Amino acid sequence: MKQERKRLFIDIKTSAREREKLINLAVENGCNTVVFSLKDPFFKSKSSKCLKLTKRYALNIEAGGRDLPLLLPKRLFLFQPGLFRMEHGRRKMDRHFCPTNPKTISIIAQRAHFFISRAMEKMDAPRIFHLLPEEGHENTWCQCPACRAFRPAEQYLIAVNTAADVLAQFDSGAQLVYIDFDREPDAARVKPRDNLLVIG
Ligand SMILES: [Zn+2]
Repeated sequence: MKQERKRLFIDIKTSAREREKLINLAVENGCNTVVFSLKDPFFKSKSSKCLKLTKRYALNIEAGGRDLPLLLPKRLFLFQPGLFRMEHGRRKMDRHFCPTNPKTISIIAQRAHFFISRAMEKMDAPRIFHLLPEEGHENTWCQCPACRAFRPAEQYLIAVNTAADVLAQFDSGAQLVYIDFDREPDAARVKPRDNLLVIG
């Protein structure tokens, strides 16, 4: 029988002591899964108190969250602004990026490869990843001539599909959670990959 996952999302800024408290409390309340950001130190360290704790309670580990902006480093803006989103004719570094630029997609794939391969070492199958847009800015996407053909939710899905393809190369049974925030009935120009799991 597939066990239902009750999740605790750990914010990357949470201190070691606070993590311990949160995990203990969550387990007392029936939580069986902890979700860490892709760039969380949890995935970097070989041993940590947090890791011992998750092992002691045999918790499922998941990776990701509001991590989509991590996949395109902001430092690239200086020399390659075309990777980033356009607003009123100007490229902007903040929020999301230009997903119809093949260079953007290639960087997203490389970064996804790096983060997924690292996180996977601390996760057991069935593996679940999360790749959600920036909170409160779900609709802030690219208005360049090529992207204008796609709604924000579709632009988001183009990026998520890229990460889903990378994930499938590593683990064909793994799933990637995304949000469907597009309520338009004809929003099917970009099809979600089979290893995507929708929430929202
Ligand atoms: Zn664009």
